[in-house]
Parts: sequence; structure tokens; C-alpha cells
Amino acid sequence: MRDLSDTICALSTPVGRSGIAVVRVSGAQSFEIFGRIFVQKRHSEQIPPRHAMLGKIADPGGGYEIDETIATCFPSPNSYSGEDMVEFSLHGNPVLVTALLDCLCEQGARLAEPGEFTMRAFLHGRLDLAQAEAVNDVIRATTLYQAQVAARQCSGSLSRQLKPVKKFLIDIIVNLESAVEFAEENLPTASRDVLVQQLGLVRQQIRSWIASYRQGRIVKEGFSMAVVGKPNVGKSSVFNALLAQDRSIVTEMPGTTRDLVSEITNLEGIPVRLQDTAGIHPSDDHIEKLGIDRSLEAIVDADAILLVVDRSRPHLQQDAALRQQVAHASCLVVMNKSDLPSAWSAEEMRAFAGGWPYVEVSAKTGAGIEELRTAILRGLMGTGVSQDTVLITNLRHVRSLEAAEKDLEEAAKSLQNGLSEEFALMDLQGGLKKLGVITGETSVDDLLWEIFSRFCIGK
Ligand code: GDP
Repeated sequence: MRDLSDTICALSTPVGRSGIAVVRVSGAQSFEIFGRIFVQKRHSEQIPPRHAMLGKIADPGGGYEIDETIATCFPSPNSYSGEDMVEFSLHGNPVLVTALLDCLCEQGARLAEPGEFTMRAFLHGRLDLAQAEAVNDVIRATTLYQAQVAARQCSGSLSRQLKPVKKFLIDIIVNLESAVEFAEENLPTASRDVLVQQLGLVRQQIRSWIASYRQGRIVKEGFSMAVVGKPNVGKSSVFNALLAQDRSIVTEMPGTTRDLVSEITNLEGIPVRLQDTAGIHPSDDHIEKLGIDRSLEAIVDADAILLVVDRSRPHLQQDAALRQQVAHASCLVVMNKSDLPSAWSAEEMRAFAGGWPYVEVSAKTGAGIEELRTAILRGLMGTGVSQDTVLITNLRHVRSLEAAEKDLEEAAKSLQNGLSEEFALMDLQGGLKKLGVITGETSVDDLLWEIFSRFCIGK
């Protein structure tokens, strides 16, 4: 493990030319180094905390000025990392930034590893591990909704919800421990039943968090959807209507979409990768066949399918065959060309869709497209997620929850089967530890560099 007692520095804004670049310094030597390289415009002996100061950065080694800067000092513990920190805002020019970083390193700092400022914040108790991980999610979010969900976790929403559950579990453990210590014989069945019941409540809460990962993963990583159907049913038109732009080529000639075209659309803040595919039908054309093969692969790879049919033409064998082909998938049927007279009765549409939802649209006029977007969203997220709901978005968290739930299940079984309380206690302690791994209370040293290596440098 890298030495965390030394002083680190890094560029915290993107590399390149910009109005301003921010360079951060963190660690015990920060202020000493700052004193050596910062020439204040209006000299004062004291460094005012959290106060922006105008001055110049001068390299004491080379004896030349690097740039004009606004510097702010944040004394420990009231800084992002919890250590003494300095932030320099200078002109956003890579040459100046490199000169400043070189100068800082000559004066005793070293370049920070990715995520090292946040790792230090965690190690100094400024953030717990779940909050620290969410910092990275805020930075990586591609929609405002993703950023808001991550920001809630960053402010400790998951940690706050975990706290009473852990407290409840600790109470169960303490009760059981004292019962074991003072009882002459095994715990009576009635007392065991109460404990199992209490454990049931904790397990129910943990299971609901685990279940939220299905939505949480979609919020964090987005979702992929393949638009499939026979040639000429309007797949590319539906694709374009959903994207609200002409990305796919629309023609009257069947078989034009030979390569897969994919674009990301934003459904209420959830990034959905839509993939337009070649029309699936028997074909002797070699190139078209390659396109059809790719469409079939896309069906397998996609998280869900939009099956487009032409409502203005009678229900054909080919539609039924395709319906069969995607029977295993999560699917939404789009009855397109609703601006034309329908060749399908309402009953036929319902029967064709089977258990899947279907929406009638006209890609040409835009009718029904909003309803289609809503139906896709409902399919992804169910009835919706309220602001207060904690969504588990992190695979590491869901794995810890699953492991904890398993331990609690074992504990409940031991109690129900009349085994010695020691067994249940061991499992309960194990479960509690696994919940602690999420927020980093339980030792996670071996995980830290792996977690923070996914961050950018300078955060
Ligand atoms: P694809 O082969 O399934 O991708 O179908 P296209 O999107 O290329 O459309 C095939 C033809 O159907 C084109 O002439 C489109 O203009 C027409 N089309 C697509 N959607 C509609 C619609 O909603 N109404 C009508 N009337 N025509 C449509």
C-alpha cells in the first residue's frame, strides 16, 4: 500500500486548455510547501483558512514565476480529505499545470493516485465507504437523474438507512448473548420464536434492498433495447421517433438497415441504448443475411426487445415466427402505422402480444410515441421510484447484502431447529460484519485500492 502520510498533489480539472485549472495539494506538508511557493499580493503573516487569496506561484528552485493564482487553504479536519489542503486555481494551460506539479513535487509532494483524495477522506472519517464510492458515481453520471441518485448516496442516504437495521441486529445479538450467558438451559422455544420473528423483519428489509438493485443497476448503467421486426414494418422510423432525430435510414425498399445502428436516448434520466436492426425474414441475399444474423445476435444481447409490427397489414406467419423467436425475452410490442386503417382487430393485437404490453403508435405522425416511452420506462422501473427510496446501485453492496442475508437465514434456521445458540450467534455476527463492509466499518483494507483505482486522478 502507498504511504498515506505523505503529501499528494494532482490536477483536479480535465487535462487541456480551459479558463481555469484547479490543482489540489493534501497532506501534512501542504501549508509548508504553500508558504514556499506562494507570493501573496498583499502580504500577511497569517494564512486565513478557507479564504481565496490572490498571488503568484514562484518556483523557489528555478527562481521564476509560474502563473498568477487564486489559492485557498483548508486546515485539517475541515477539508475534503480531512487533511491540510491547498487548492490553486491557475490558468488552464497544461504547460503551467505541469510546471506547478513539478514544483510541488520538488518541494516534497508526490503525484496522487486515482481517487486518493477521496480515499484519504474515507480514512479520516469524512465519508464512509458507500458515500466515497458514490462520489465517483456523481462524477460519472451521464444524466441529471443519475447524478441526483448518486448525490443522495453521497450525502449518506444508504448509510442512514443501514444504521437502524444494524442497531436492531446488534440488539438481537446482545439479547441472545445475555440469554446464553445467564440461562442454565437452552433458550425456550417461545423466546427463539420471538428472535426468529425479529430476524425476519431485518431479513425482509435486506431483501427489499437486494431487490432494488434491478432498478438501481438500470439507473446507474442504463439499459439496452433492440428494435426488431420484419422488413418495412417501420423499425427505423420508430427508432428515429424515439430518438427524435433522423439517425436511421428510412426507405420504402425492404432490407435497408443492414448494419446495426445504435444510439442512446434519455428516458426520464435513464440512458437507454436503442439498437435498430435489419428486418428479420428469409433472404437469399448474402449481405442481407449477414445483417439478419447480427439482428439475431442483438436479440440475445439486448436487455429487452421492442417488437415492431405493421398494424396496417394483416397478421402474417412471419410476425408469429418472430414473436416465437423472442418469446424468452422481456418484450414490448409496438403496433406501428396507426395513422392507416387497421388490419388487426383489438382482440388479435391482444392475443399476439400475449402477456406483453403493447402500444399503438404512428412513427410517421408521432402519435403514441410518448405513450411508448412511458411504457418502456414502466417496464424498466415498475411504478416508479420515490425520492426517499434507497436504490442499491453498486454490485459490491448487493453482494454484501446477499451474503449478510444468507448468514441471517442460517441463524434463523439454527434457532428454529433447536441447535445451540452459539451457532446462531456466529452467523449473526457474520451477517453484521457483512453489513459493515458496505460502509467500510468492517476492515476493507484489501479492497480500498481496487475501489479507488476506478476514480479519476485529482478526486
Ligand atoms: P423498417 O424496414 O422496418 O426499418 O421500416 P422503415 O422505418 O424504413 O419504414 C418502412 C416504410 O414504412 C417507409 O416508407 C416509412 O415511411 C413507412 N412508415 C414507417 N412508419 C410509418 C407509420 O407510422 N405510418 C405510415 N403510414 N408509414 C410508415
